[in-house]
Amino acid sequence: LLTAKDLHKTFALPGGGSQPVLNGVSLSLAPGETLALTGESGSGKSTLLHLLAGLERPDSGTVTLDGAPLSALPDAARAEARRTRIGLVFQQFNLIPSLDVAANLAFQARLAGRHDARWCATLAERLGLAPQLSAWPETLSGGQQQRLAIGRALAARPPLLLADEPTGNLDEDNAATVLALMLELAAETGAALVTVTHSATVAAAMSRRLHLSHGRLA
Ligand code: ATP
Ligand code: MG
Repeated sequence: LLTAKDLHKTFALPGGGSQPVLNGVSLSLAPGETLALTGESGSGKSTLLHLLAGLERPDSGTVTLDGAPLSALPDAARAEARRTRIGLVFQQFNLIPSLDVAANLAFQARLAGRHDARWCATLAERLGLAPQLSAWPETLSGGQQQRLAIGRALAARPPLLLADEPTGNLDEDNAATVLALMLELAAETGAALVTVTHSATVAAAMSRRLHLSHGRLA
């Protein structure tokens, strides 16, 4: 499904100079597989996830999704692939404040031309958001915002779900519930899953674990 080959990414530092973050990262993911990505704060986990999502481009190396060279596509085609093939749960949720819960949930599926009202209703129900459908995101609890971000990423039934610390802002009980739901929904839709996490419990729930350190995976 997804292959990353020899990814390099360096950021310019504000005071001049540069900081290499990814230094030859390769991985591959089969359809339906679940992968945990761990690593210290600042090790480049979010950066790697954004490259896998086609949100950013590597300095060198390639990301291939279903045989198509995601990282080499022109911006418009890359955005199209991202909308239709990839669900991304951002570390900071990135919910849209001017849209209610229902519209946030359906947002990506609508962009992808794959809106399915029945599936959205099912997601809302399963994620415990049905009573909140006409609420504004800012009025939701942290756990509800997290579940909404997961639902939005799954609404278009993407074959690939990328989740950045999907339980990082939750207490232990909520984290376990959200993790179980995410795994269940990913399995039902057949989505492969890459989860960035600090939690050993979350990592243990995935079929494979990779650790990012000094710009490389082990
Ligand atoms: P955390 O666990 O705290 O979320 P992380 O492993 O996700 O950390 P990243 O957010 O990928 O780490 O950041 C890795 C390094 O790259 C950090 O030093 C960060 O400052 C730097 N970095 C990330 N994005 C940018 C950017 N757009 N411009 C400049 N530097 C960046
Ligand atoms: Mg991060």
